[in-house]
Amino acid sequence: MSGPRPVRAARGTELSTLGWQQEAALRMLQNNLDPEVAEHPDKLVVYGGTGKAARDWRSYDAMVRTLQTLKQDETMLVQSGRPVGVMQTHEWAPRVLLANSNLVGDWANWEEFRRLENLGLTMYGQMTAGSWIYIGTQGILQGTYETFAAVAAKKFNGTLAGTITLTAGLGGMGGAQPLAVTMNDGVAICVDVDPRAIDRRIEHRYLDVKANDLRHALQLAVEARDARKPLSIGLLGNAAELLPQMLAEGAPIDIVTDQTSAHDPLAYLPVGVDFDDMAAYAAKDPAGFTTRARESMATHVEAMVGFMDAGAEVFDYGNSIRGEAQLAGYDRAFAFPGFVPAYIRPLFCEGKGPFRWAALSGEASDIHKTDKAMLELFPENESLHRWIKMAGERVHFQGLPARICWLGYGERDKAGERFNEMVADGTLAAPLVIGRDHLDCGSVASPYRETEAMLDGSDAIADWPLLNAMVNVASGASWVSIHHGGGVGMGRSIHAGQVTVADGTKLAGEKIRRVLTNDPGMGVIRHVDAGYDIAETVADERGVRIPMREG
Ligand code: NAD
Repeated sequence: MSGPRPVRAARGTELSTLGWQQEAALRMLQNNLDPEVAEHPDKLVVYGGTGKAARDWRSYDAMVRTLQTLKQDETMLVQSGRPVGVMQTHEWAPRVLLANSNLVGDWANWEEFRRLENLGLTMYGQMTAGSWIYIGTQGILQGTYETFAAVAAKKFNGTLAGTITLTAGLGGMGGAQPLAVTMNDGVAICVDVDPRAIDRRIEHRYLDVKANDLRHALQLAVEARDARKPLSIGLLGNAAELLPQMLAEGAPIDIVTDQTSAHDPLAYLPVGVDFDDMAAYAAKDPAGFTTRARESMATHVEAMVGFMDAGAEVFDYGNSIRGEAQLAGYDRAFAFPGFVPAYIRPLFCEGKGPFRWAALSGEASDIHKTDKAMLELFPENESLHRWIKMAGERVHFQGLPARICWLGYGERDKAGERFNEMVADGTLAAPLVIGRDHLDCGSVASPYRETEAMLDGSDAIADWPLLNAMVNVASGASWVSIHHGGGVGMGRSIHAGQVTVADGTKLAGEKIRRVLTNDPGMGVIRHVDAGYDIAETVADERGVRIPMREG
């Protein structure tokens, strides 16, 4: 009988499939479930509350079996974590096509999703969980680092030295926050209800110390701030209790955000519930739990607004906590902005987004060689140099060694083609996979996050991610996915992803050039269409064709 067991991707150059495209999909599926990578691998949960890589263990086994026999002109179809068919296609076609968590508009809410999930008909795919390109906390570290750097640039003269950031959530993605703040030379107090989350981040060197209690946390934070020394402090407790308490006591906080799993009310611990009772309570009474979780989120957000009123820089980091607080009746929930309109949109206009790659050899030296290649390819990009250097020194690999950095239109294809050459000439020990988060410049419709407050009001138009997926299929990506929900929850986003394998062949080079040009190209055209000047300049300078601007 098939059931939970430890999963780890193979390393090295021996294939258990009929080719590297299939091998890459298999290894990345397994890598997502590696106990070093996944938050709850026994439940197939990779990150983000309930984001899964496979619907159930039987489906996982069937996907492994199918990938091991899949031919170069075949494509496996995956419907919410279950392989439902194999079709004859051609060698330019993706080897895997995935659609996860999609529901028809009027049905796209958590209640209906849970009902269908309980019937075994669907699963939550998050962004990179169900599309097999999660690379552990590093994946989000770079984006979080960039965001805090943008906060520093906007409000604190380019550095977080001498400031205290208060946040909550040290899970799969939220665990990147302490290191992202200290990489910007700041002090962070990070609240989590789960002692294991705190210990794990300390073990992985993403978090520096654990405080005994609130008083101790504040004392450590103020001392470090005054000495202008970076320090991150884990604090055990419920954010909906601790934030209001800190606000009432006048805690000297400069920046506030949050990365609890607020997008899923069943993954946010309500005040008055013991952490140990959380799972049983959520399973027994989901409706009652949801109501209490939303009430607590309203209290939490009210405290965040209080800090904003007191002068702190406050932003939503894309977990829907404002939307949930509003559902609980808190009317100032949207008083502070989301991080995309506040800091990231200008980057999206240039087609910039989270480019990432993983070494199928399993060898860290392959990533170090690609790091070096990136520094040579982009000598003028200072922030990229700073990031790659710090990442090389401080990032602990989880599962297959991997790297991420933000690259734009005209850059990603250059990097991808170079990587493919490095596989071809034997510089690297084995092929690489090149992919990205679904959180990218032209691949998401998400009115509370990536497309919040678009210039032309097109926040909820979801044609863009569908076009993005289709153009990636047409360009030769190795696997392509369309998901619903992601980090902001059911009914709130539609997004697409692609992963392309650099196996050193000429064909892979051709595919990489198209995919890694067209995929970020979607970001440029999406923002030109919405009326952003920066995107128009990028399109003009770099030759992106926009029919409505021709003739
Ligand atoms: P996760 O489920 O792995 O971790 C969530 C953490 O929150 C857990 O450690 C949990 O113990 C803690 N938590 C739950 N309720 C709490 C409470 N009341 N007080 C304090 N801690 C509490 O999730 P994750 O992968 O870290 O993601 C967290 C959220 O952040 C998601 O909603 C995700 O979509 C969002 N996010 C968005 C972006 C983005 O937009 N760029 C990036 C990262 C994360």
